[in-house]
Amino acid sequence: MATAKSINPATGETIKEYNRISTKEALAKIAASKMEFHQWKQKTFAERAKLMYALADVLDENKEEYAQLTTREMGKIIGQARKEIEKCALVCRYYAEHAATLLADETVKTEATKSYVTFQPIGVILAVMPWNFPFYQAIRFAAPSLMAGNTGVLKHASNVQGCALAIEEAFLKAGFPKDVFTNLNIDSKEVKILIEDKNIAAITLTGSDAAGRSIAAIAGQNLKKTVMELGGSDAYIILEDVDLEKATDLATLGRLQNNGQTCIAAKRFIVLDAIYDDFVALFTKKMKAAKMGEPTNEDVYFGPMARIDLRDELHEQVTKTIKQGGRLVLGGTIPQGKGAYYPATILTDLKPGMEAFDNELFGPVASVIRAKDDAHAVELANNSQFGLGSGVFTKDKRRGEKLALQLEAGSSFVNKLVVSDPRLPFGGIKNSGYGRELAAYGIREFVNTKTIWID
Ligand code: NDP
Repeated sequence: MATAKSINPATGETIKEYNRISTKEALAKIAASKMEFHQWKQKTFAERAKLMYALADVLDENKEEYAQLTTREMGKIIGQARKEIEKCALVCRYYAEHAATLLADETVKTEATKSYVTFQPIGVILAVMPWNFPFYQAIRFAAPSLMAGNTGVLKHASNVQGCALAIEEAFLKAGFPKDVFTNLNIDSKEVKILIEDKNIAAITLTGSDAAGRSIAAIAGQNLKKTVMELGGSDAYIILEDVDLEKATDLATLGRLQNNGQTCIAAKRFIVLDAIYDDFVALFTKKMKAAKMGEPTNEDVYFGPMARIDLRDELHEQVTKTIKQGGRLVLGGTIPQGKGAYYPATILTDLKPGMEAFDNELFGPVASVIRAKDDAHAVELANNSQFGLGSGVFTKDKRRGEKLALQLEAGSSFVNKLVVSDPRLPFGGIKNSGYGRELAAYGIREFVNTKTIWID
């Protein structure tokens, strides 16, 4: 029988193999989810909220177990794994509290006796999710979708099937009816058949642009809506007036948290000429001091990457960039020993046309780029196939806001690393995808925005 293997990326040891289910079994589970949808959509917001609050409690109560599982399966350092579970609970509580308001009918004044817009659930939503935030990515989709009255099926990444099962169990522990949220342990090749199934209403993906292109094409053939949250190569503009200590602290955290594997991580640092050398020197010092190691150790700053193949691909990108004229000032060599470790690495003097400028580097590698002035910095930042997050570091908040407004991205933060916050929409433009998660925009992606007219 085919299995999905969980391998501890810190040691290379196989943790467990999880049996795949057949396509027939997956379609049967989707049919059961569709049956349940007809009951679930009848429930009031208050009834659904009660269960969503209970899910938040289950996440809180089992935080340590879920965090340890996450760290074992994908290598995130344990402190950040705990924070991930806390954030899941926050999102559950946010939608439990606000879904009714966010989806309240909107009266529109017309010649009718009564006319309004109402937001109705559409059915079973298929979520294809990645390993980098194995709990959060799934909950970020599920909390709004389920509160809106949809049911959900999850095709999680193959390397985090332990987390996928734990998430499904958490819904059951919270008291959700059996088929409201279902895990499907299938190979990604089977996703096409699921998208084509009449019982799937829409699809959401977080992952690579390659997966996005494939899923969006199949969904398009079947006229099904998709939300795509894909990769990014977020640019942070560092202006010459910046507090260099603070900026380099944030840059180090931004590049190394989650072991460098976050879609909204700070990846390209575009630094004004006047402070370029000082920034590189201090940033190098801090990146060098950041301790890499076993992710269950409380005192490490970052751990291994999630898989050996991802680490090797990253190294190839670094090597290619150096051949193209990029300057390696830190890291850049695969360490001896077990595990998918890659050191904190800095590449400088990068220009358009080089691998690290043009493509996403999904690991602990920072790209530093020199800019002449503000306009040049914006031009370089926008010279990207991606447009997910972006940022500006400056003491002058007005100047920061002016630049933030010019950056081609789904979000721009001034003096703060981009974060995903349930109160604010999250998503990208260009090859970073389309559609939004979180806030009112997220919960309205998978509903029928329906006009009612009473003459
Ligand atoms: P993928 O995009 O390949 O995986 C994400 C999810 O999509 C997984 O569940 C995967 O399943 C599934 N999947 C992959 N290809 C297809 C397909 N053709 N049809 C249907 N489902 C598919 O990410 P990787 O793990 O390979 O990581 C590679 C790159 O993706 C990273 O380097 C990074 O650039 C990007 N990425 C971006 C993320 C983000 O947050 N935006 C998160 C993770 C990765 P399975 O695991 O079974 O292959």
